[in-house]
Amino acid sequence: MTRDDDGMHEPDSSAVRGRLDRRSFFRGAALLGGMGAAGLLPAFEPQRAWAAEPEQNPGATEALAAQTQRVLRWSGPAPADWVRPRAGVDHDVVVVGGGQTGLSVAYGLRRAGIGRVELIDQAEPGQAGIWRTIARMRQLRTPKTIPGPEHGNAALGFRAWFETLHGPGAFDALDRIPRVVWADYLTWYEQITGARVRYRTRLLDIEPVGDVLRLHLQSEGRAHTQTTRKLVLASGYAGAGGANVPGFLRTLPARLWTHTDEPIAFERLAGKVIGVLGAGASAFDAAGVALERGAAGVHLFSRRAYIEYTNAPAPRTPRAAPDRGYPNMEEMNYALAEQVRWRSQLGRARAVASVPLDSLNRAVSHDNFHLYLNSPWDQVAVAGDGKVAVRSGAVTHRFDYVIAGTGYQIDLSAQPELARIHASIALWRDRYHPAPGEQNRAGGAYPYLGAAFQFLPREGADAAFLRNIHCANLAATVSFNALMGDVPSMVLQPPLIAGIARDLFVESVDVAANRRFIDRPASAPDPGPYQRALHG
Ligand SMILES: Cc1cc2nc3c(=O)[nH]c(=O)nc-3n(C[C@H](O)[C@H](O)[C@H](O)COP(=O)(O)OP(=O)(O)OC[C@H]3O[C@@H](n4cnc5c(N)ncnc54)[C@H](O)[C@@H]3O)c2cc1C
Repeated sequence: MTRDDDGMHEPDSSAVRGRLDRRSFFRGAALLGGMGAAGLLPAFEPQRAWAAEPEQNPGATEALAAQTQRVLRWSGPAPADWVRPRAGVDHDVVVVGGGQTGLSVAYGLRRAGIGRVELIDQAEPGQAGIWRTIARMRQLRTPKTIPGPEHGNAALGFRAWFETLHGPGAFDALDRIPRVVWADYLTWYEQITGARVRYRTRLLDIEPVGDVLRLHLQSEGRAHTQTTRKLVLASGYAGAGGANVPGFLRTLPARLWTHTDEPIAFERLAGKVIGVLGAGASAFDAAGVALERGAAGVHLFSRRAYIEYTNAPAPRTPRAAPDRGYPNMEEMNYALAEQVRWRSQLGRARAVASVPLDSLNRAVSHDNFHLYLNSPWDQVAVAGDGKVAVRSGAVTHRFDYVIAGTGYQIDLSAQPELARIHASIALWRDRYHPAPGEQNRAGGAYPYLGAAFQFLPREGADAAFLRNIHCANLAATVSFNALMGDVPSMVLQPPLIAGIARDLFVESVDVAANRRFIDRPASAPDPGPYQRALHG
């Protein structure tokens, strides 16, 4: 059994049994008739069982397959594709990113009757998104009860999937959703929605040709172009500027450091002393995994005076106020005044990153974990013995390896596929001028988006094509006052989908040809059906 980055131990025999059951279930999902999913993915192989794996109900695999078939039948097939194809254009919509956002948007578009949707991801098959690669926590950080990618069809939601396999009691017993279970659920969702992700395909460049977009792609090492009318960037937290890496770390040789956004070969860090920069959840998770894999010591540095932590399991009893992610609440954020959305950004920027208590405990429970507060790093260098020398205040520390848990940045100019067009895109700093004392440089770098997540042109830019590029990654955060990509942001997708549908619909109307409706001569039909009632 391979282990990646979740730091759990080899499964016992019951866990192996559960794994086999679940694997056979996924084969079953691929064979469900009428969903177009058969053979699209390689046989699904869960990475590992999760902690305290609940028993799978006898016959659960078959029950889920039957239930899914029934639910999809009740939903009816996706509406016929009503979008009039435009001659010479390959796709109506291309969605970049086969993570949870891209999968859900693609499904939503098909349910809206938009058929020529292409979904691409640079990842290997089954590896899109973060859950099986760079996410290292045991459980999601968000509550288990909020809506996900099911588009209001509860039977396609996590809870229905999980309870059918394991029973309602097992769901009630969950604190939050185990990470690998969420990944398994998304794999099932990908299969039953017939997502057809084109894997190993990377968007390199966007070239506007009139209002059509020519996409420069690399598929399995082969460069080629395809055209589309609409483009959705569902490219995640790293999709609008990449990982935030302090410049001084980039001076180190790559073998001595990494960012938490990269896969980390923890098995090579056994017996090593590791320095972690940053005190957010991902930093603590990386520290925890390193210690579980036998690191000799982990030293974690925060520039702040304290660690903010949360212990917010899913509410077990209904609460008076709706949870975050309650439909109709988050999706109204866009209508809030600019000042309100801006102050939310300011609040996020000033807040100390919050760490779930279980992630904190995971690291702190090890005697060889050491926490340094008020301790930013000033300088790093390679010492004579090949170790990393880190100066923090008056003290110099020596590490075998360092990990940056320093989050993500929004910088459209740093995103390779936006190189040709980023200068035309309006940013918050172009459109909104904060009151004195409310400036925030990082917030000003976010794109100022339209209500359907579309980029808007910077003043004076001749870039009408931007209305066809919809930015559904972390860069949408300030405009929509929500961390775009996380589970609570799923409820923001309807206006994105409706906006794309509206544009394609309006564009497909030929105004000149439309005259035929008023030019058509009126001709009376045979009066037979009402003849006998005619008076006179
Ligand atoms: C460590 C971590 C933990 C998180 N934990 C939680 C949590 O517990 N709960 C929660 O609600 N949110 C969480 N989030 C936030 C958010 O839910 C996740 O980032 C989530 O994966 C976002 O889904 P996504 O589909 O938008 O993007 P991603 O999952 O990042 O998927 C984006 C996809 O786009 C592809 N891609 C990017 N650029 C290109 C390109 N140019 N060409 C082709 N493909 C491309 C990538 O390969 C990737 O597969 C977490 C984020 C991180 C980083």
